[in-house]
Amino acid sequence: MKSISILGSTGSIGTQTLEVIDRLGYKVVGLSSNKNLKLLEKQIEKYKPLEVAVFNKEKADELKEKVDIPVSSGLKGLNRIATLNEADTVVNSVVGSIGLIPTIKSIKSRKNIALANKETLVCAGHIIMGLVKKNKISLMPIDSEHSALFQCLNGENRKKIKQLILTCSGGAFRDKTKKQLEKVKAKDALKHPTWNMGSKISVDSATLMNKGLEVIEAKWLYDIDYNKISVTIHPQSIIHSMVEFNDNSIIAQLSVPSMKLPIEYALTYPDREKGIVKQLDFFKVKKLTFRKPNLKLFECLDLAYKAGKIGGSMPCAVNATNEVLVKKFLENKIGFFDIASNIKKIMKEHNPIKNPSIEEILNVDKKIRKRVEKMII
Ligand code: MN
Repeated sequence: MKSISILGSTGSIGTQTLEVIDRLGYKVVGLSSNKNLKLLEKQIEKYKPLEVAVFNKEKADELKEKVDIPVSSGLKGLNRIATLNEADTVVNSVVGSIGLIPTIKSIKSRKNIALANKETLVCAGHIIMGLVKKNKISLMPIDSEHSALFQCLNGENRKKIKQLILTCSGGAFRDKTKKQLEKVKAKDALKHPTWNMGSKISVDSATLMNKGLEVIEAKWLYDIDYNKISVTIHPQSIIHSMVEFNDNSIIAQLSVPSMKLPIEYALTYPDREKGIVKQLDFFKVKKLTFRKPNLKLFECLDLAYKAGKIGGSMPCAVNATNEVLVKKFLENKIGFFDIASNIKKIMKEHNPIKNPSIEEILNVDKKIRKRVEKMII
């Protein structure tokens, strides 16, 4: 039986992780939430963790009055839950680059990681993958595409990979014209056609920045050059990604779209459990289609590739910019095309640091956020 700590337990991935754990019968030893006390209290009652953290300090103080287990707050709190002695596995489903330091702390405390926080790898993939090796822990992706790639690569010679093909639903705006995109609002982005997800990732899916971040994530997870990673729009979200090999053979992973499968696989690998998702009915799917992404309308994907290729602190700068812009878009303060255009501005301004240290990454992250906040008033 595994003992799990979950960072971000009240979010979309966090709650689905708990559903998976219900079936697996694992022990939950630590939970953390941003500020959703109502749900966190319910989770505390049900799972009886040893300790919890609430990122928001006032909410943490409020919770302290109600429960008789240790409650901590802020990044310190996240780090405590990330390093609990009693946990052997940490699920990191925090949203944004705030998840980076807790991931590092977990790895250094020799916890196995199930990582939904892709920003960790986007900002510091060059450091994280080295730490994973050095500390001999396992890092499993909780991202449907990367879970698919992992399964397609199982037992294969990595040197014989021709390309990793990331599939992409296309997001809520995949069929919109330029004119329509000029007018889309946050609420439209949240109506994702095939996946039910949190607000930040739903906007990222709509701009294709999510796929851009995933390209960078794949580069680090599987140690592959950017020119060997491609993206195809696949509106049905049945094929979760594919690997093409030198002999032109392609291996794909298919299932009904549900994050519960990649979550469970990350927790049970190399084992598989029965029936967390329903069986795929081919005859109901009828057809699987593919098309190239439109990089003119969805420029964020192109910018993420460019940032990845430039490397150093550039992906971190782009990620920080995107996080601020998504927040502004969700507040209806900027439009759809403002996201890509402001990322381009920052990419022009930012002089990337080669091989940045964690301190340098955190510094870039902070500075860029301030800069973008000033740009958008
Ligand atoms: Mn994904």
